[in-house]
Amino acid sequence: MCQFCHQHGEGEKWYLKAENYAEHLLSDIKRSKYIQHFFRDPQRLKDRIDLLDTLNRMPGFVQAVIKPAILGRMKKTHHGQVLPIEDVKEIFSFVNSVVRLPCICRQASLGTEERFCYGLSMVPAEESKLKVIVEAVGADYLTGPAVEGLETVSKEEALEQFMELEKKSLFHSVWTFMTPFIGGICNCDHDCMAMKATVKKSLPVMYRAEYVAEVEAELCNGCRNCIRACQFGAISFSLAREKVSIDPLLCYGCGVCRVHCTKNAIALTERKMIPAAAGIW
Ligand code: SF4
Ligand code: SF4
Repeated sequence: MCQFCHQHGEGEKWYLKAENYAEHLLSDIKRSKYIQHFFRDPQRLKDRIDLLDTLNRMPGFVQAVIKPAILGRMKKTHHGQVLPIEDVKEIFSFVNSVVRLPCICRQASLGTEERFCYGLSMVPAEESKLKVIVEAVGADYLTGPAVEGLETVSKEEALEQFMELEKKSLFHSVWTFMTPFIGGICNCDHDCMAMKATVKKSLPVMYRAEYVAEVEAELCNGCRNCIRACQFGAISFSLAREKVSIDPLLCYGCGVCRVHCTKNAIALTERKMIPAAAGIW
């Protein structure tokens, strides 16, 4: 269990605790202002990522002071965790509405409208304060050129879309908006700011999943489809064995590689059961 599970999940997976999605948490003015500020300006996110390059060029002792301070703040405001589709389904079993919205990261990094983010609510979408708060931002990219801003989708539709996105090698991550309130689930790849910060800039603003993937060697035919699908570079191919293996130290436990394996050779195991990966977040 990650630190958040102990702090915000009473020792269970924190993102499976319904209270962390509660609408009444949005009555906090500070939180609703934070959410509006977050969605208002995509360029601000990009600037922050660029600042990390500057930070990474500073002497090690400076980084050793500043990075924990940034991470501590992120844990209190906007922190995420990778999760596999099984856990997305569990979340969908207790939330009551889902709205799809354009991704602020893709807007910032590519300038394109990609509808990869999903806001969750414990009440029907038409009563959701989260939807009202985000719509009130009035940012152009949230209205979109082609489709109405925040689309209400059924949970079944959302799940189908998530599974389609896995086929494109996108993984799921769940996010707080002033912790412990959870506002939604994103579908991420290298265009995401969280991915850039965590993997490329050594600032882990998103925890790894509670799982690690393992390959059953007898089933693997060495096709390497999984290597192409893994966003984290966790899978390698052995020329001698003509099979792949997954490095538990690099695996984020997203489960996306499974979708690309026609031999059903990959399965997820609880992280705590894998000694090499237990406690690595
Ligand atoms: S190896 Fe790990 S990180 Fe890579 S796709 Fe599979 S589960 Fe995700
Ligand atoms: S996709 Fe499956 S069969 Fe192909 S290399 Fe990966 S684990 Fe082996």
